[in-house]
Amino acid sequence: MRNIRLFNVLPKIPQKLQFLETLADNVWWCWNKEAIALFRYIDLDLWKDCKSNPKILLKRAGQKRLEELSEDPTFLKQLEEVREKFQAEVEKPEKEKKNSSGNNCIAYFSLEHGLHESIRLYSGGLGILAGDHLKSASELELPMVGVGLLYRQGYFRQTIDKEGWQNEHYPDNNIEHMPLSRARDADGGEIMVSLRLADQVVHAIVWQMKVGNVKLYLLDTEIPENSPDMRSITWRLYGGDKKMRLHQELLLGIAGHQALVKLGYEPKVCHINEGHAAFISLARISHLIETKDIDYNTAIQIAWRTNIFTTHTPVPAGNEVFDIDLLRPYLEALQEDLHLDPARILRWGLPPDSGEDIREFSMTILGLRMANYSNGVSKLHGQVARNMWAHLWPDKPKDEVPIKHVTNGVHVRSWVSRRNQELYDRYLSPGWEHFIDNETICSEIDRIPDTLLWQVHQMEKADLVHSTRSAITKQLSNLNATEKEKRSVHNCLDPYALTIGFARRFATYKRATLLLSDKERLANLLKSEDKPVQFIFAGKAHPADEKGKSFIHEIIQFAKEYGVSHRVVFLEDYDIRIARTMVHGVDVWLNNPERPKEASGTSGMKVAINGGINCSILDGWWAEAYCPECGWAIPSRDDVYDEQYRNVIEAQALFNILENEIIPCYYSRKTGEMPAEWIAKIKESLKMALYNFSSNRMVYEYKNHFYAPALEAYDKLTASKCKYAKELAQVKQTYYEKLGNVNIGIPQIIEDISHVYVNDKITVRLEVYLDGLDPEQVDVELYYGPVDPTNQVISSNTAKMNIIEDKSKGNYLYEAQVDCQMAGRFGVTARLTPAGNIWDNHIPNFVVWSD
Ligand SMILES: *Cc1c(COP(=O)(O)O)cnc(C)c1O
Repeated sequence: MRNIRLFNVLPKIPQKLQFLETLADNVWWCWNKEAIALFRYIDLDLWKDCKSNPKILLKRAGQKRLEELSEDPTFLKQLEEVREKFQAEVEKPEKEKKNSSGNNCIAYFSLEHGLHESIRLYSGGLGILAGDHLKSASELELPMVGVGLLYRQGYFRQTIDKEGWQNEHYPDNNIEHMPLSRARDADGGEIMVSLRLADQVVHAIVWQMKVGNVKLYLLDTEIPENSPDMRSITWRLYGGDKKMRLHQELLLGIAGHQALVKLGYEPKVCHINEGHAAFISLARISHLIETKDIDYNTAIQIAWRTNIFTTHTPVPAGNEVFDIDLLRPYLEALQEDLHLDPARILRWGLPPDSGEDIREFSMTILGLRMANYSNGVSKLHGQVARNMWAHLWPDKPKDEVPIKHVTNGVHVRSWVSRRNQELYDRYLSPGWEHFIDNETICSEIDRIPDTLLWQVHQMEKADLVHSTRSAITKQLSNLNATEKEKRSVHNCLDPYALTIGFARRFATYKRATLLLSDKERLANLLKSEDKPVQFIFAGKAHPADEKGKSFIHEIIQFAKEYGVSHRVVFLEDYDIRIARTMVHGVDVWLNNPERPKEASGTSGMKVAINGGINCSILDGWWAEAYCPECGWAIPSRDDVYDEQYRNVIEAQALFNILENEIIPCYYSRKTGEMPAEWIAKIKESLKMALYNFSSNRMVYEYKNHFYAPALEAYDKLTASKCKYAKELAQVKQTYYEKLGNVNIGIPQIIEDISHVYVNDKITVRLEVYLDGLDPEQVDVELYYGPVDPTNQVISSNTAKMNIIEDKSKGNYLYEAQVDCQMAGRFGVTARLTPAGNIWDNHIPNFVVWSD
């Protein structure tokens, strides 16, 4: 057709229903069951048909139905209730918000955001965590804004062919059907940002998405101003080559920050969610130089002291690196705009003192270096990350490596089923989702009658079986299956059988096929007449991950070969919707990664808050959540290096747990009765998870440990024309210049140490040469503790040393006492650090040891 002009005809929403549009335009609806109930009421079939997308629903509901609803008192009453709740939670005046204070702004940068299945801007756990983070920030009323990219296609969609192989598709996201509007600056103008990418310039428009009272800004390069190359930057999530990824990450970090500034925000604190977003530091430093009229080093003091960096995985593929030769031309092109020296920035992505041989710029290192606050995502992962990145702080003992942990959580109101929420609403104190008093909530969980808990679970499971059957029917008809094959779906899965779920990315370390290492033993469990077990699998393998794809194939082939297709199903196109149905209905959630590669994992938390029970390797979150009362731990053998052998041992251990514990526990009941032991476990699992693994708890911890001190630091650093930041920049320079010349002598013990007994005190003296540093500027301390056979101090203690004599010309005599509280072999040495703790996290670490 030639000369075609396009235009939209919008439904005319009756006056009384206007609020529905507001509702559809704020993702808040997706974690409010009452809001969802409204959409279901409008037209349940249509709601399902448009995949729970209220924007489409309102378009397609039809003028007649809308008019009808505007005269329906039941509907209007419910609408009014939701409106009141919305007003109380979202449209609250700024000054009534809990954590609002003046012009505070915390910016959260992430390459993916998983908010709802209809908003396809995520691939997996990382994105869903970001989505849950923003939702909780809204609930906690934090002054947060999110920044990300608006993918025109997003992550691929998965279908499985007849042989069980994954195919990838990239249908376009219809942005008309997403809750988006163009972001506007203070004058009401739509904004555009531009960024130099080597020899080209990319422009991006900026969209706004409302997540409760948090705004998420999304950059979009699919505009006529851009060359085709530049347009494609925001097409696909994790698609394309290294260069594409670099473009995306420069866009997110640098243009993302620029967008916030254009919109009138002055981010005081930036949260870098995974290395992808680490370029934000470059933009911040440059912005501070420009607006505060300060130099480079002063700007660095402000930026790094107010950045938070979260690392999400120890797996190499998740820790982005760029070849230095790829990156250099980009930094050179940006030199003028950013006032930053490319050679210096290139060093920020390398370990300290690395030589010419290292050619890869690590985004994780950039993140760690440019953030005073950094963390892993579970207790165990914190430890793993400290080991993994210890080389960045070569002079620190491993337990002092400044990477903390904040354990992940899930957004409870988004992930809890409607029936469970109703149950909790009825038996737990009002506001239980906000966890005013976790102890009380836990004791109230015991009051929920077993029968109700069990009935709700049975209903959720029946829903799961039902929706799995329809999904399989659809999968089969897409594959032109025979009528007979389609009919067999009626027997697929048994709502009364023990149902085990396994759904996650098919990354190889997650070992989706672990149980297939003993196919006979597995088939026996599946085919049992009286105690059957069934599995639901789902998950996508990264398009380039052939091994991950072969896992999917293997599972499907196994089901066919052993005639257990009614007991082992694979749901294609794992997404938030499938995750939700699965976590609502399964009895057991299985997770068997290679320890310690799973940094946290969150799907098991979603299961636990819905009355499912976890059976998992003690990795990630489960290492801190597990107790024998609330689930099962699969023994792992991290010490076995032969991968195949390790898999076999761990699989056998898993079979043992299934056969000896899980299956008997589930089926030990008389006909018509409930499994009492099982229900007791459900309750313990609920108590374990409901608060501890909620993202409200998580964001609350980020706020207390990181955001609040960083906001305070920002104000302090920038007050009076950045006086304090300038001082710090100078102090840092002094340490750089002087610490190399500082000399710490050998600790001398005054007493005779041939016979030291418990409770004795020993006195240690030390000569220190400070090379012109003021003694006020440094802390000298003893470092001591029991030693291992190689004379390395394990479990360290420190004691501050005091000057007892000024020996002139920069020489001082220090002294301290050590209390010998325990018997054993001990070692003592000494070190010098900058005074106080404000340089503790710095790279390089300013530590001088006695030598
Ligand atoms: C929760 C969730 C994940 C993350 O689960 P893990 O346990 O971290 O593997 C991935 N994808 C979807 C769709 C989810 O809902």
